[in-house]
Amino acid sequence: MPKSYEYVGPPEIRAAAKREQLGVSVRSAEELAAWVRNQPEWDGDSLTATFVVVPDGTLRVAPRRSEHVGCALDGAVLAAGELTICLAPQVQIIAATNQSTGYCPQPSCWDVARAALGAIAIACPEHLTSAYEFRRCPSCGERNLVKEDWFVCVFCDTDLPREWNFD
Ligand SMILES: [Zn+2]
Repeated sequence: MPKSYEYVGPPEIRAAAKREQLGVSVRSAEELAAWVRNQPEWDGDSLTATFVVVPDGTLRVAPRRSEHVGCALDGAVLAAGELTICLAPQVQIIAATNQSTGYCPQPSCWDVARAALGAIAIACPEHLTSAYEFRRCPSCGERNLVKEDWFVCVFCDTDLPREWNFD
């Protein structure tokens, strides 16, 4: 069983995202291509989108600025982050991250996302092109995105644990 991630962000963002659930389930490469072409941000070259993989293994995408928790229909996820999608010469993922401060997933969540993409024959990188480490500060409780191996809370200077700690 792949690890499931619960929403760990602020309740007010969750409440707002609940009112504005954006995003679509992607069941084929053609569906993803059609969605990309419909986005106002589509420039004919590439598009970066918010993505989640929901517990049944389905990939969902939403406009980049939307909250992951809205894209996930307020539920848990198996993976979350951003995908950069390119449509030529075929639908493919050219960059991927696990950047989601709503779910703070571990980089290993990419395995599930790769499987979801593989199931609908969309090529993607073997590894995240940008992998992030998230930790909750044991002192102030804030979520931190660890940069350059600096395991110190940016809010209160407390040392952060080496192990992922959102469970
Ligand atoms: Zn702190």
